Amino acid sequence: MNFGWTEQQQQIRDAVERVCAPFDADYWLRHDREGGFPGDFHQALAEAGWLGIAMPEAYGGAGLGISEAALMMHTIAATGAGLSGASAVHMNIFGLHPVVVFGNEAQKQRWLPPLIAGRDKACFGVTEPNTGLNTLKLKTRAVRQGDHYVVTGQKVWISTAQVANKILLLARTTPVEECRGTEGLSLFYTDLDRSTVEVREIEKMGRKAVDSNQVFIDGLRIPVEDRVGEEGQGFSYILHGLNPERILIAAEAVGLGRAALARGALYAQERVVFDRPIGMNQGIQHPLAKSWMELEAAHLMVHKAAWLYDQHQPCGAEANSAKYLAAEACYHACENAILTHGGMGYAKEYHVERYLREAWIPRLAPVSPQLILCFIAEKVLGLPKSY
Ligand SMILES: Cc1cc2nc3c(=O)[nH]c(=O)nc-3n(C[C@H](O)[C@H](O)[C@H](O)COP(=O)(O)OP(=O)(O)OC[C@H]3O[C@@H](n4cnc5c(N)ncnc54)[C@H](O)[C@@H]3O)c2cc1C
Repeated sequence: MNFGWTEQQQQIRDAVERVCAPFDADYWLRHDREGGFPGDFHQALAEAGWLGIAMPEAYGGAGLGISEAALMMHTIAATGAGLSGASAVHMNIFGLHPVVVFGNEAQKQRWLPPLIAGRDKACFGVTEPNTGLNTLKLKTRAVRQGDHYVVTGQKVWISTAQVANKILLLARTTPVEECRGTEGLSLFYTDLDRSTVEVREIEKMGRKAVDSNQVFIDGLRIPVEDRVGEEGQGFSYILHGLNPERILIAAEAVGLGRAALARGALYAQERVVFDRPIGMNQGIQHPLAKSWMELEAAHLMVHKAAWLYDQHQPCGAEANSAKYLAAEACYHACENAILTHGGMGYAKEYHVERYLREAWIPRLAPVSPQLILCFIAEKVLGLPKSY
């Protein structure tokens, strides 16, 4: 067993840190206050070639694994860019994995190079307001009319839809009552045509830099060439991308938690009360030390899940556990960082309150902690399915 970074992985971390360096805490604070997509940050990563880290070399990517992609996303978040920075590129890194696996050659030639170069921005359209986590019950309909599908329906929480020109869309091509098993949903990657799609931003708790939206689709015409794989198999294609997505968000959560912990530890050294640094008190030290351990342990699970995925081994339990453990560890680290700062933890200029608001995202999405526990209970412990 080897827990160390390879030379190449260390180079990735150092190079990503260099790209992130000009985007300092004040840059992210400004974006958190005012909103507005961090386009210059996205562009800087694209120009340095990082958006294609896990994409095949044949289409302009680096052809590396989820381990390296997770390292990159961890590094972005840990620089203090947090979820604001990570979410700005998250979808580009592994979102189009179903296209890589199930798309035809012409589609990959058409779609992957502009995404890797940062010319295209994609959003991911799965969640709907009335079906929640029960994805097999999605209602958005795609009806075939000759060489097109016509799509009508509603999505919710779709991140980056304000700035994206493309959408990876899961929609129903067979009425639910005629479906067997996981069939009946189809996957499309297509232009986000704003003449038939209305995108309404949701005002939310944090990460104002990266929008999330209600999306109303009324007659979106999708050419048949924009369907990924077979009609009716979209759900199974999406499943292929779920584990890597969980690994990535887990890595981002560990990074965000470490950014918070670093600020907490620094403040504990510098702040003097009762004639000594507050960090001399065990009441301040211990929660920070505990957070360090929780983040380290979660990161080990991230590495394990990523390693299994890269070895083409099953990793559902590990990817879900990594997401769960990392999100909880991140949340506690942010909470402890605020407590360490005392009243100043509540002031925006100290950044940790922003981290805490962002820490809610990996807890809630892309799958809830409850559903992860249900999954482990059923798939690992053999208990009856509860949902
Ligand atoms: C900031 C943000 C960004 C997002 N970005 C995207 C995006 O880009 N694209 C996209 O498609 N989606 C996105 N999402 C949506 C996200 O994936 C969903 O919110 C998440 O999957 C939960 O679904 P839901 O909100 O519909 O919860 P619901 O399904 O309504 O569930 C509500 C609560 O009930 C619990 N629950 C439900 N059933 C059970 C059960 N049987 N047992 C125990 N507990 C249960 C859930 O765990 C949850 O806590 C985003 C969400 C957020 C907050």
